[in-house]
Amino acid sequence: MSILVVGSVAFDTVQTPAGRADGVLGGSASYFSVAASFFAPVHLVAVVGKDFGEENARIFRDRDIDLGGLAHLPGKTFHWSGVYGDDINQRTTLATELNVFEEFEPVLPERLRKAEYLFLANIDPDLQRSVLKQMKRPKLVACDTMNFWIEGKRESVLEMLKGVDVLLINDQEARQLALDANTVRAAKKILGFGPTSLIIKRGEYGAALYSGHSHFAVPAYPLLDPVDPTGAGDSFAGGFMGHLARRGTLDEATIRQALVVGSVMASFCVEDFSLRRFQSLRPEQIRTRLKEFGRMTQYADPT
Ligand code: AMP
Repeated sequence: MSILVVGSVAFDTVQTPAGRADGVLGGSASYFSVAASFFAPVHLVAVVGKDFGEENARIFRDRDIDLGGLAHLPGKTFHWSGVYGDDINQRTTLATELNVFEEFEPVLPERLRKAEYLFLANIDPDLQRSVLKQMKRPKLVACDTMNFWIEGKRESVLEMLKGVDVLLINDQEARQLALDANTVRAAKKILGFGPTSLIIKRGEYGAALYSGHSHFAVPAYPLLDPVDPTGAGDSFAGGFMGHLARRGTLDEATIRQALVVGSVMASFCVEDFSLRRFQSLRPEQIRTRLKEFGRMTQYADPT
């Protein structure tokens, strides 16, 4: 089953302890769609400017991602810039230039409105809501957001969450959204806002699933030399949704597997700047890491 994603396609400027990349392809929908494309067909809805050339489009085409919903507007593509400290979990945003996103009104082609899996990647919650309204009863709606929108458009974020099944955010954003400094309490509050499941991403410490009836956690794959964590969260979401769409089921066991697939795809993302690691990634390398992950998290019942 295919996945529709709406989010940002960006040019990013990133500084990490491992080096620097200037004006490289990034954006929430870019990382998501490329990671998900290893598991299911993906349709991308986003906007780019005049500076987005064929060499950028090719990265998506090489992964068979449908670009029929990618709007081209006069002006510049969204630009984000950030710097990571020696503790690679600490990120500071230096610039967020919305550019063509300021005038973007997503209008979904009829054929995309019937997609069964919808991912509302991190963009303006007003746009996320507009896409949600145009859809015809998707089987699963998942979404991401960030501090920029929780601070700037809180009411719109809360309204959007009413139509969402799974919310994926990091622990800081969860606390900010719930206005509660305790992550477990924050998770409970967020489940009252609309989503039936909440996935809290914790960078190099993994991710946890909270739902009304269960709690489950996975570690992050331990990497010796992380290069750039930008997009790890979106790549996690891509692996997560990709696995669910490929399996076509939403039972607890499959959701738990999807968290592991998400964690593995995030680990590949971090190995290089931009989408570079995905450009050379082979399916058997994903399978090998998934197997390794299984061994890493297995233990005999200690009781
Ligand atoms: P992540 O590291 O998973 O949080 O995602 C980083 C990506 O999100 C970068 O490639 C940015 O271009 C993109 N991004 C950063 N800020 C925003 C924003 N306010 N709206 C949409 N996308 C953003």
